[in-house]
Amino acid sequence: MVELAPYAVSESNSHGRNIVEPTPQGRGEFQRDRDRIIHSGAFRRLEYKTQVFVNHEGDLFRTRLTHSIEVAQIARSIARRLRLNEDLAEAISLAHDLGHTPFGHAGQDALNNCMQAWGGFEHNLQSLRVVELLEERYAEFDGLNLTFETREGILKHCSRDNAAKLGDLGARFLNDRRPSLEAQIANLADEIAYNNHDVDDGLRSGLITLEQLADVPLVARHLDEVRSAYPVLPERRIVHETVRRMINTLVSDLIRQSEQNIAAQKLATLEDVHCAPVLIAFSDELNEEQRVLKRFLHTNLYRHYRVMRMSAKAQRIIGDLFGVFMGDNRLLPPAFQRPAEVERARSVADYIAGMTDRYAIREHRRIFAVEEV
Ligand code: MG
Repeated sequence: MVELAPYAVSESNSHGRNIVEPTPQGRGEFQRDRDRIIHSGAFRRLEYKTQVFVNHEGDLFRTRLTHSIEVAQIARSIARRLRLNEDLAEAISLAHDLGHTPFGHAGQDALNNCMQAWGGFEHNLQSLRVVELLEERYAEFDGLNLTFETREGILKHCSRDNAAKLGDLGARFLNDRRPSLEAQIANLADEIAYNNHDVDDGLRSGLITLEQLADVPLVARHLDEVRSAYPVLPERRIVHETVRRMINTLVSDLIRQSEQNIAAQKLATLEDVHCAPVLIAFSDELNEEQRVLKRFLHTNLYRHYRVMRMSAKAQRIIGDLFGVFMGDNRLLPPAFQRPAEVERARSVADYIAGMTDRYAIREHRRIFAVEEV
């Protein structure tokens, strides 16, 4: 096994767990974090949650589960090449979307609107809430009692107000310090994964076309390469070849640029990472190309009228559920009932955020459809 870089997170420089536990046998601390995440209920529910396409729209579209696995796979390759902690990068990646609401970003926006009077709703903070509090699997503690470094990586961004309430974990947002390189990797692996699979799913759904993508340099140059190498390839294979090459280009560029950034900082310890600027990064050229791609996806896919219809429906479902539960505590499952308004709002948000797409649709029907028993 390749030795970790001196500035990688390791068991010897880890801040450990909030509740001290015996050292794991036959696996490392960060592998234990990963295993706890995989065995959690919130992780299994990712299978039925989506970001762009609603789960029942097609069996071939990414769900948050397959998205998280793709992120983990990309993050591990990068971490290994940079001699960073692959197990930590994997654990963070697998957990990064645990707090997502049903119906992707439309769901998050709707719940955040509903929660305005009670501190808002942010999926990143919710992911942390899932692993620190909401998972009920252990006799001796709430949540999964993950290491500080995994939790630090899950909390990608945070407002100063919220950071002030989070103690050690929030401190870096107040003191202008960076998270570990492993957390920085998980963050950009997420970006590589969704940009590329949204192109793939967008094409498969027919909402965007290869012709439109000819104006997006990152796609166009790989597409041209594939077309000239294989003039008679069926379209689906052209798409796969193109997306595969795009991922490869982005990962290689990220490794190259990050290596340069790390070398320029002369990092010696993990503390140096916290004090340095963000070091895991794409080159300027690839950053610009990704920006163009994101803008394209935003205009042509995320704002496509068919996606907008689904988003509007999702917002209505979440708004309706929130309103009805806040109005009458007795309609909530007993575990989520809270008499006081503030606690009730957070509990209703926890209940709704934990729903899968189809559960939210069914729950809405159970409450609002007259014929439903
Ligand atoms: Mg993600």
